[in-house]
Amino acid sequence: MFDYLIVGAGFAGSVLAERLARVAGKKVLICDKRAHIGGNAYDHYDDAGVLVHRYGPHIFHTNSRDVYEYLSQFTAWRPYEHRVRASVDGQLVPIPINLDSVNQLYGLKLTSFELTKFFESVAEKRDAIRTSEDVIVSKVGRELYEKFFRNYTRKQWDLDPSELDATVTARVPVRTNRDDRYFTDTYQIMPLRGYTRMFENMLDHPNIKILLNTDYRDIERVLPYSEMVYTGPVDEFFDYRFGKLPYRSLEFRHETYNMPVYQPAPVVNYPNEHAYTRVTEFKYLTGQEHQKTSIVFEYPRAEGDPYYPVPRPENAALYRQYQTLADGTQGVHFVGRLATYKYYNMDQVVAQALTLFARMSGTTRSQVLAASA
Ligand SMILES: Cc1cc2nc3c(=O)[nH]c(=O)nc-3n(C[C@H](O)[C@H](O)[C@H](O)COP(=O)(O)OP(=O)(O)OC[C@H]3O[C@@H](n4cnc5c(N)ncnc54)[C@H](O)[C@@H]3O)c2cc1C
Repeated sequence: MFDYLIVGAGFAGSVLAERLARVAGKKVLICDKRAHIGGNAYDHYDDAGVLVHRYGPHIFHTNSRDVYEYLSQFTAWRPYEHRVRASVDGQLVPIPINLDSVNQLYGLKLTSFELTKFFESVAEKRDAIRTSEDVIVSKVGRELYEKFFRNYTRKQWDLDPSELDATVTARVPVRTNRDDRYFTDTYQIMPLRGYTRMFENMLDHPNIKILLNTDYRDIERVLPYSEMVYTGPVDEFFDYRFGKLPYRSLEFRHETYNMPVYQPAPVVNYPNEHAYTRVTEFKYLTGQEHQKTSIVFEYPRAEGDPYYPVPRPENAALYRQYQTLADGTQGVHFVGRLATYKYYNMDQVVAQALTLFARMSGTTRSQVLAASA
């Protein structure tokens, strides 16, 4: 008899499994329909021996000391500041847009002060910021919006930025200095030996049993358990009773080349050319030294694994219907990106899972973290 059946061995499921087993002494069965643990953060050595992220680049960054300290029990880290270039007008320029992007693109020598004035002169006034288009044109004007954002967003979402919630591009900063880091969080680090090794350490406990290649529906009636933690898609759990929640998917084309370096930056975005959105070269992320290099191309798709909840008001309304059902379902805890239909980064999912554990065990977050592994 298990105390908990945990559906999904990504960040949400693994954090809950680890805390329930190690701190609360519960017996846990964690299953995943995939052949591996780690969810979308899964990494592995490919045929050439290069460490790659199967489901696209996963960069760890957080401002939360709690999350950093919690995960540090299961991995050492390497410092890593992520940098991205965008291919625009035949040049590779920094994105988020900064002083160098504008100077390089237009062959100018503006100062930060002059760039602020430039943005002010081209920005379009908006009374209210409702859509992703509003976010960008009100900051950098129409021309830069067209060059960097419009087509990228259309490729990624199959929607014009004017049809997407402001939240999608609100994540993208615009800078007037030369800072070309993609993130500015306090902690910008990568697990030293990869994500999968970190997950293995989290789940390495006598109270935790792992069942891979297993859809929970095939075992929920035959294996006795008291409560469930569910991290899969919430609409699927309720047999799509109110209809399907829309997701965007991706197809990943992994390639290995017989050369040490393929491109001059960890990620190159292609807003305007090609069917793919971006190309990632993994050795930058992992710090691995190898004669060969492995990269991944990302092609946005309408069908496939659910990756990105589509943030539109009607989808949020549909989710609220499922949320009401979920809140009223006794003995099942819904947590993680798919179960709460929200674009969360890894650290946010860890925080959400730790908060849920605190609630389930009747302790505060700090007591939860203090209970050492
Ligand atoms: C392309 C891409 C890039 C990303 N890059 C970053 C990044 O750079 N930085 C960052 O912080 N975050 C990034 N993220 C987000 C990150 O992947 C998520 O925050 C994190 O994986 C969410 O963890 P989770 O446990 O909620 O979900 P998942 O990792 O999706 O885990 C859910 C698991 O549940 C399993 N499951 C579903 N249904 C069932 C079922 N019926 N039975 C059994 N198992 C089931 C799935 O197989 C899956 O393994 C990225 C996401 C994507 C898609």
